[in-house]
Amino acid sequence: MEAVTEARCIARDEADPLAQCRDRFDMPDGVIYLDGNSLGPLPRSSAGLVGETLGEHWGRGLIRSWNDAGWFDLPLALGDRLGALVGAAPGQVAVCDNTSINTFKAISAAVGLNPGRNRVIACRDEFPTDLYMIQGLSGLSGGAIELVLAESADDAMARLGEDTAVVLLSQVNYRSAALLDMAAITRKIHDAGALAVWDLCHSAGALAVELDHCGADIAVGCTYKYLNGGPGSPAFIYVAERHQEAARQPLSGWWSHAKPFDFSPGFTAAAGIRRFLTGTQPILSLVAVGAGLDTFNGVSMADVRAKSLALCELFACLVRQECGSADLEVRAGGPWEGRGSHVCLSFPRGYALMQALIQHGVIGDFRAPDLMRFGFAPLYNGYHDVWRAVQILSQCLSDGCYLDPRYNRAAPVT
Ligand SMILES: *Cc1c(COP(=O)(O)O)cnc(C)c1O
Repeated sequence: MEAVTEARCIARDEADPLAQCRDRFDMPDGVIYLDGNSLGPLPRSSAGLVGETLGEHWGRGLIRSWNDAGWFDLPLALGDRLGALVGAAPGQVAVCDNTSINTFKAISAAVGLNPGRNRVIACRDEFPTDLYMIQGLSGLSGGAIELVLAESADDAMARLGEDTAVVLLSQVNYRSAALLDMAAITRKIHDAGALAVWDLCHSAGALAVELDHCGADIAVGCTYKYLNGGPGSPAFIYVAERHQEAARQPLSGWWSHAKPFDFSPGFTAAAGIRRFLTGTQPILSLVAVGAGLDTFNGVSMADVRAKSLALCELFACLVRQECGSADLEVRAGGPWEGRGSHVCLSFPRGYALMQALIQHGVIGDFRAPDLMRFGFAPLYNGYHDVWRAVQILSQCLSDGCYLDPRYNRAAPVT
């Protein structure tokens, strides 16, 4: 195979239809940011929009802004905009709470929609908060709701039975980046009489998700990764329209009520997706979600996906070409089409090597025991970024700088 050159990477940036999207972000100089799969960077429009909310809408408008600035309806207005990025027609998505809470609501509602069945299947290597929330729900039900841990998505399918109420799966696994076939798997789940709940944390904003088309029942995801909503920004929940009338979620707060300003003692669920809200939502953070969604204006998700695949493949290829370490392994089996938008490298001292890389301006993250994770976000990462990142990786490996004790002290967030 012909070697990849720096000139070739620069040429690819020049031909890239998404290249100008990088200006939508306020990026620090001297940083190659390959961690948008954990926290997207700051959109340029974010400070202005949040500042306007502070100064004008809160400062001048005060409480009138719940009506006049659209605060009360913001979770659903943003939900419709976000829905367009994940293949959901309007009226099915709310932006609210966090992914953990939305997972709790999603699983409760899905189990309730499937009476007479009590098992929830999820994979052992699922992002743990999803498993923890199901365990919490199981405890609350006095053990009536049971979590079944599958070894893989295939194993989850093999375990489908007459007592399966729900299957929860991540479309893209947070470690392996394995991308599941949402349409085919949802069909199998439905054929077994169960409901499909999808976690989109690592797919929303990274590839063209088709919730309606795939017949997904319920989905959740966060907005602070590929959607650039900011640290701790509210998450989203999708409930297919066909389920909304029968669906109930147990965190029934006044924002889920049909008439919150009647202040009546009895709960009556609001119509539609609104019943999946809980209580007062963080408006400043929601406004920042709007800025994050703005970064996708006019962008085709097909272009995003094509570039994401190209960046991942280029990275893996350059690591093999440039990094002569027997201990460093690209953990990406199978075709790139079957993967999400990040690539893991395993390395015995992966934590220290990642700290050294960060010190040298290449920011990724680390997942125990030995995975260095690099996310590729097509809106702001370019081909030459990948070239430079791999040069720095190669340099750190060959000069052994990562062996310095200062790179070996564990911080609470990895
Ligand atoms: C990031 C992530 C979460 C995060 O949940 P929070 O409630 O936002 O902390 C949940 N699930 C998956 C698959 C994730 O990748």
